[in-house]
Amino acid sequence: VIRLTDVNKHYGAFHALRDVNLAVAKGEKIIICGPSGSGKSTLIRCINRIERHDSGEILVDGHRLTGETRDVAAIRREVGMVFQSFNLFPHMTILQNCTIAPRKSRGLGKAEAEERAMHYLTKVRIPDQAGKYPGQLSGGQQQRVAIARALCMQPRVMLFDEPTSALDPEMVKEVLDTMVELAEEGMTMLCVTHEMGFARQVADRVIFMDRGEKIEEAAPGDFFTSPQSPRAREFLQQVI
Ligand code: ATP
Ligand code: MG
Repeated sequence: VIRLTDVNKHYGAFHALRDVNLAVAKGEKIIICGPSGSGKSTLIRCINRIERHDSGEILVDGHRLTGETRDVAAIRREVGMVFQSFNLFPHMTILQNCTIAPRKSRGLGKAEAEERAMHYLTKVRIPDQAGKYPGQLSGGQQQRVAIARALCMQPRVMLFDEPTSALDPEMVKEVLDTMVELAEEGMTMLCVTHEMGFARQVADRVIFMDRGEKIEEAAPGDFFTSPQSPRAREFLQQVI
């Protein structure tokens, strides 16, 4: 579903991604971890074309993200994204947050979009919050809305960038539970997270990044018990 070949990205003179290669098959769950500033968000954002890479090739669901941008709309429809800060539209109700994109870019009618929104809000266990505004919800509830909102587009891939790191500890579990369910249903997922328990539970592979490079790629069992590089070992000692 996703293939990156020798991807490089600079911010001015700063080299943020160095020759990154990655292939993600349908249904796979990939966890991306690494120290702060290692390029994890940049990698995720390049896949969704929030950032533009400067060399190499990114293919998403058959669409090639080259210098031209005509495939960008198609990619945004197929790739759901959940951020650390929930990024809900504050002036819209939860229901409106979930129906706007399907109505605008999938051409759904109001009733159909609302029915779909209620389906996914039920799935993340907050159908009763549909009429409220984001500011009236807890962080964990807002993040579950963000997940439901992304699912309403029925994406082929979900990208998560530290979805639980802005949450109070007691709310982390409810969001992770939702993500585990999504994983068990076969969603293709790329997830930046330092929740190592979650990583062990769902990951097919763990990617370790440092200074813009993909340093390791391994099955979670191997990565957590015997990381190959000193940098990964040092990182794991800090987060576990
Ligand atoms: P964190 O764990 O703190 O979220 P990260 O691994 O997600 O870190 P990135 O956000 O991808 O790291 O950033 C990688 C590097 O690129 C950092 O050194 C950062 O300062 C730099 N960077 C990120 N975005 C920009 C930008 N828009 N302009 C300039 N530099 C940037
Ligand atoms: Mg980041």
